Amino acid sequence: MAKIDTSVFELGRGNLVKVPEVFKSVFPGCRALIVADANTWKAAGEEVSMHMHDSGIDTDVFLIPDKEFHAEWKYIEMMDAELDKRPGAILVSAGSGTINDICKLCSHHHSQSYLTVPTAASVDGYTSFGASITKDNSKQTFDCPAPVAVVADVDVIAAAPKEMTAAGYADLAAKIPAGGEWMISDLFGTEPIVQDAWHILQDDLEKFLSRPEAVAAGDPDAIGDLFKGLVLSGFAMQLAQSSRPASCCDHLFSHLLDMTHHTFNGKSQSHGFQVAIGTLTMCAVFDEFLKYDLTKIDVDECVAAWPSLESEQQRALEIFEGFPAPKLGWENLTKKYEPAEKVRKELEDIKACWPVLKEKLRAQVWTFDRMQAMFKAAGAPYDPSMIGVTRQQIKDMFPRVQIMRWRINLLDLAKRARIYDSLVDSVFAPGGAWDLSTR
Ligand SMILES: [Zn+2]
Repeated sequence: MAKIDTSVFELGRGNLVKVPEVFKSVFPGCRALIVADANTWKAAGEEVSMHMHDSGIDTDVFLIPDKEFHAEWKYIEMMDAELDKRPGAILVSAGSGTINDICKLCSHHHSQSYLTVPTAASVDGYTSFGASITKDNSKQTFDCPAPVAVVADVDVIAAAPKEMTAAGYADLAAKIPAGGEWMISDLFGTEPIVQDAWHILQDDLEKFLSRPEAVAAGDPDAIGDLFKGLVLSGFAMQLAQSSRPASCCDHLFSHLLDMTHHTFNGKSQSHGFQVAIGTLTMCAVFDEFLKYDLTKIDVDECVAAWPSLESEQQRALEIFEGFPAPKLGWENLTKKYEPAEKVRKELEDIKACWPVLKEKLRAQVWTFDRMQAMFKAAGAPYDPSMIGVTRQQIKDMFPRVQIMRWRINLLDLAKRARIYDSLVDSVFAPGGAWDLSTR
């Protein structure tokens, strides 16, 4: 069984003072290199640096020089070069998701771990296995272990800009539909549910999401709970050695926006804000999906209509034509394509267990209305227009979303059951969640 790489997780108020003691316990005798940007230096880095010096730890600081920056490969090269200059120095990430991911991957490149001091409850990536970095125009997840220690100060996290906390709320909420899609891949046998990874996150997920108003009001207790949920998401990914427990199509809309350098009012939108729209979209897809009676599907007809690998590959090339990563769909579709007889077995299984599966999915995935109300209360975006995307653009993303990752998703199931077009159309039809006629 996989284990959790993170051996120390401190969460509480006034915790910055604990950083040196935790650092010494996990990296005895080592020197430190604090990594921050101008904002996170003020929020946490400066105080951490002071405590480290007071404790007699040889500590350097590296401030990321750019005002606005993203998890891009050039920062990995920059940070790797800094570590090369200081052999044996251990990184102390004082920042949010981007700085943490840079520290995570660069530490791995130097065969060492690091300590993270989160400055916002903005993403689940602090404790996840892998770093999400844009390289060669494509957002990629690079395998690398999570930090050995997390020292989270709730006062620092609660003082972060409200939008960052709302983004984290949405990133955590994405685990609701993502769990539903994991159930589907479990049924197909392509990625069985890893029980300990499922339970560590899903058992208390509703509780961690239950106080959106308090989260929006900056209540330290509610934000502490939200942060705990994000950290447990990371642990779930560590246990599963994959991002499956934490994301599926809900995240792919966001990845597409990142890969096309989407901006709104001149600014790129945060991971969590983009994921909010992906999450709502998938809740809407589930709402429509659960209206079908899959005990009625004609398996023979579906299998007879199942396309060949060659025609699917051709379709993938057409769908991604002109995209910054034109072979993305081809590669992932090729990886997940299944022969007709495997599809027959999957459809027969779905048909046989549909009444039970339907109940399980309904219990797992919140309705669009419920999710939208929670996002409104949390201060997260609840309409695509709020991140500068039209409903039509969301609709147009579906073909790419279906095939841009090798893992089985709800849309793959809809393709097999020959309900894909009507399912997607219904989300955008009059009365649907993203009714095109009203915008
Ligand atoms: Zn995420």
